[in-house]
Amino acid sequence: MKLVFLGPPGAGKGTLALRMTKILNAPHISTGNIFREAIAAASQLGLKVKAIVDAGKLVDDGTTIELVRERLARADVVDSYILDGFPRTIAQAEALSGFSNIDRVVNFDVPDSVVIERLSGRFVCRKCGFNWHKTFNPPEKDGVCDKCGGEVYTREDDRAEAVKKRLDVYREQTAPLIEYYRKKGLLVDIDARPDVDSIVENLKKLLRT
Ligand code: AMP
Repeated sequence: MKLVFLGPPGAGKGTLALRMTKILNAPHISTGNIFREAIAAASQLGLKVKAIVDAGKLVDDGTTIELVRERLARADVVDSYILDGFPRTIAQAEALSGFSNIDRVVNFDVPDSVVIERLSGRFVCRKCGFNWHKTFNPPEKDGVCDKCGGEVYTREDDRAEAVKKRLDVYREQTAPLIEYYRKKGLLVDIDARPDVDSIVENLKKLLRT
């Protein structure tokens, strides 16, 4: 199954994608992770996008579309994938329809107050990408991921100013995709407020796995 995970920052798309990638046996493709890895490696792409990503703005459509086009041309994603964080603009969605046929778009529905609460305490593992939370799900040892021993850090774009910017960008550029995909009959809505296990169960039912 070829899925797109759509929703505001902090909706839990990344966490749910990590769970569903195993259940559906579908590779997880996160454009945010690809950009963060490029930034950490100080590659040409990383140097180009660092300031944009840190500020919570969107990387230009051309760069992002090309990245996804190349990734979706690889053999492991012929039958299935989970696209997490792409598309984020109508132009990206239009481009995607030109090189891949998606089966469903899952819309993670969550109010701003929950988003801000989640993002303001989030820590991410540099190695495995697992999301921890200062209050709701802290790692056993400060700064160390329980899952893989990797270093746990606060994303630059999880700081208050950048979170505000990301929410504005989401409302203006990404939220219109909800109606865009609803009209195409591809959208399924999911309440993203409950705990992760409940959302996984709801998603399984919704996708009939
Ligand atoms: P995420 O991990 O999905 O929250 O993405 C982190 C950041 O990467 C975003 O705030 C953007 O700066 C950039 N990014 C990720 N996906 C896209 C996309 N589809 N289009 C443009 N920028 C993106």
